[in-house]
Amino acid sequence: TTARTPRGRQFFANPGPTNIPDSILKAVAHVSIDFNDPAFLTVYDGVVAGLKRILKTQHEIFLYTGSGHAAWEAALVNLFSAGDALLVIETGHFSESWGKMAQDFGLEIRTLAADWRRGADFAALRAMLAADSAHAIKAICAVQNETATGMELSIAEIRAALDATGHPAMLLVDTISSLGSLDFRMDDWGVDVAVGGSQKGLMLPTGLSFTGVSPKAMAAHKTSRLPKSYLNWTNMLTRRHKSFIGTVPTSLFYGLQESIRLLEEEGLDQVFARHARLAEAVRRCVRHWSGNNGPQLFCLAPDRFSNSVTAVQMPEGHNAEDIRRIALGTFNVSLGGGLGRLGGKVFRIGHLGDLNEPMILGTLATVEASMRVAGVPHTPGGVNAAIDYLADQARAA
Ligand code: PLP
Repeated sequence: TTARTPRGRQFFANPGPTNIPDSILKAVAHVSIDFNDPAFLTVYDGVVAGLKRILKTQHEIFLYTGSGHAAWEAALVNLFSAGDALLVIETGHFSESWGKMAQDFGLEIRTLAADWRRGADFAALRAMLAADSAHAIKAICAVQNETATGMELSIAEIRAALDATGHPAMLLVDTISSLGSLDFRMDDWGVDVAVGGSQKGLMLPTGLSFTGVSPKAMAAHKTSRLPKSYLNWTNMLTRRHKSFIGTVPTSLFYGLQESIRLLEEEGLDQVFARHARLAEAVRRCVRHWSGNNGPQLFCLAPDRFSNSVTAVQMPEGHNAEDIRRIALGTFNVSLGGGLGRLGGKVFRIGHLGDLNEPMILGTLATVEASMRVAGVPHTPGGVNAAIDYLADQARAA
């Protein structure tokens, strides 16, 4: 058969990057502007204030020209000294990767081990904190939304474990696939460092990341001895922008200004409700497919289902990469793949950012078509389960 020439937009059913709304595309297409021009500084200051509203924080924010990994690294090098111990709550590929990065910097990693399909046991977290009576653990690293497995952790419960045990460890939270899609409350939850990135719920191109930093974290920064330069918060504070040692990526700020405007125009609570609705439609569809030895929801903890991404476990003997290849190559839909030890075992449907019902229904129908092409067993008609749910929700609204 001849290769198809793609028409229409490539559908992003990938948990990052995500679809970029037209108004953001137009906003980032801005001519070069001097980053010290008063007109730009007004935009810049407004964007930083807006980002604080999205993070629900009054604290300092530092921004980086780099993807989420840069903000992960900034959090580590600015807070710690070689040999410091961190407690990583295992969720999946991204908690492992952040922990490995910390090891590369000579930090000691203690892991609260967890089954990736069920997630961590918070009673075990309390026990680990209580057992650390010498307070060797300097910080907890938690991924609010594990993008690799489709599971959300309650940050409020982690805060409660710290408070109940009177443990002084800082709380570092990765919000990369949750911010702007799932509720996050930096100050209410006593988060010391919140790590975020541009290309998921904020609907921007990749290349901007940031950290919200509490006064407690700023105090820890003052005594931290890990080498740092480009990402050094003290160096950044001497700058007018209080971020960016080098050139400021001005066009991304025009995009972020529009992103914040869109999120606030819809209302954050409505944004979260839309993500919950679309995610539930995806889960109902996958549950329908799961009959006849079909694929299953990877996450087995209903109270922890992620509303921004769903990982789908393939039936035994079938490779998730076949579905991804057909979806992309034949139908021009980008799905997420299995990461780390889940390679080939799961594919992931991203449902975050600039997304509505027809996009979700189109994606689900296309995944079902791809399963048919690949000869993967499933109960046909999953998309009808999604239609039923979305129509009920629309009638009730
Ligand atoms: N943390 C989480 C939860 C992620 O989903 C990702 C990327 O998908 C990262 C960290 C890494 O971010 P980046 O790819 O922007 O460097």
